[in-house]
Amino acid sequence: MEMRIGGKEVPSPGDRWIDVKNPATGERIDRVPAGSAGDVSEAVDAAAAASEIWRTKGMRERGMILFHAAEKVREQHKDLARLLTMEQGKPIREATDEVRGFANILEYYAGISAQPAGESVRLGAAGDALVVREPLGVCGAIIPWNMPVIIMGWKIGPALLAGNTMVLKPASTTPLTNLTLAAILDSAGLPPGVLNVVTGSGEEVGEALVQHPDIQKISFTGNCATGLRIRKLASAHLKDITLELGGSDPMIVMDDADIDKAVEGAIRGRFYNAGQTCTAVKRLYVHEKVAQEFIRNLKARTEALNVGNGLGPKTEMGPLNSREQRERIVQAVERTREQGEGIIVSGGGILRGKAYENGFFFHPTLVKDVAPESCLVTGEVFGPVLPVMTVPDLDAAIAAANASRYGLGASVWTKNMHTARRVFDEVHAGIVWVNRHLTVPPEVPFGGNLESGIGRENGYHAIDQYSRTKTLFLGW
Ligand code: NDP
Repeated sequence: MEMRIGGKEVPSPGDRWIDVKNPATGERIDRVPAGSAGDVSEAVDAAAAASEIWRTKGMRERGMILFHAAEKVREQHKDLARLLTMEQGKPIREATDEVRGFANILEYYAGISAQPAGESVRLGAAGDALVVREPLGVCGAIIPWNMPVIIMGWKIGPALLAGNTMVLKPASTTPLTNLTLAAILDSAGLPPGVLNVVTGSGEEVGEALVQHPDIQKISFTGNCATGLRIRKLASAHLKDITLELGGSDPMIVMDDADIDKAVEGAIRGRFYNAGQTCTAVKRLYVHEKVAQEFIRNLKARTEALNVGNGLGPKTEMGPLNSREQRERIVQAVERTREQGEGIIVSGGGILRGKAYENGFFFHPTLVKDVAPESCLVTGEVFGPVLPVMTVPDLDAAIAAANASRYGLGASVWTKNMHTARRVFDEVHAGIVWVNRHLTVPPEVPFGGNLESGIGRENGYHAIDQYSRTKTLFLGW
């Protein structure tokens, strides 16, 4: 596939390409241009020119184009989901959910476009003021490979509705669905240049985007270290920034929880997308009174998971997205094993056998009695490894949940309202679920505290993140 600048497909100018591989088979499925700083400049120019047209359209008109794009995405969801599975690895059912989720996001923002924005302030004899929101201009979006479609929606939905134009850089392992979606948006009536996609490496294309003087805002989702670097580069130009940098979400299972429901919550919370989700359950704290039963049932469910090529209709967990990602998981589990920092209850290694030969598969893994200093607890383990720790009471669970530099999400599984309320009030997180984990609908703001990031995506709040107020003062 080619890049997309100014509504047109643009080939690799220097004949430099990046291969896109199927993580289930290791086979090349396509290639995209390895773009350069020059391509970023061209895309920013196209976005700046388009901004003159786009920002002057009414919000409802912009919303209607997003709505029309959502319809087209729904019509093509099967092909899009298949493409996403092939480049990312996730089961086709999850890919289908993600593509539909993208359409949901566009529809949500199209829906709120009909509602009034801004305010008026009466100032007595001095006059009246009218406060409106105006777009920031050209925004840059840097997308990761774990949920490339949903995260594209979280960024383009509010940004485009608010009247901004955009240059988007996909992850190098998952650019194909992002490029295809950009073409669909163009065909739905987006003026050329409103949404541009420049493929290429983070170091070259990503950093050129962050440092381009005409980019007003950067929205990034990914690794903490990359986020810190982006923040430093962007601050040199005083750019606005939203960072979603992942998490190490705790799940607390109390002694009054519905155990079957909690086990299913943990399975989905940890093994969805092979554990490569920012809000995945990354630390599980179970009350000692129910720990034995809970771990026994969890082990049985973990071992029953059907792992394979995401295109298989019965697949419940696919491969990791790349060899590098799998290597990170291998090392984290090895370290835990070597240092005696936990007991591996099931899984614990690479899946072997003909069906898995050239793919990046890893066993769904359960580790119990994990030491608090283990990297499985202190870091963000972005793969199918679930550390389970036993706690004597709610105080201990809350203290352990908060012993993390991350603060993205958290969940508590209980029938007691007061327990739920304490977790909501006391655990550092941007979202707290009760008897649920992972769900992030477009209607509610999403983002983290501490090292999980800066700013919020989704909901009305995201419109504020892509616009600023401007005041008209009327002295009569
Ligand atoms: P990165 O943060 O490096 O990649 C995310 C995006 O940033 C990609 O588009 C990448 O491009 C781009 N990028 C990389 N370096 C730069 C840079 N210097 N300037 C601008 N953009 C850049 O994540 P990794 O792929 O290295 O994943 C590593 C770990 O990060 C994971 O194991 C996980 O812990 C965490 N992560 C968290 C995510 C989340 O949802 N919060 C998502 C992804 C990762 P390119 O693909 O070309 O390198």
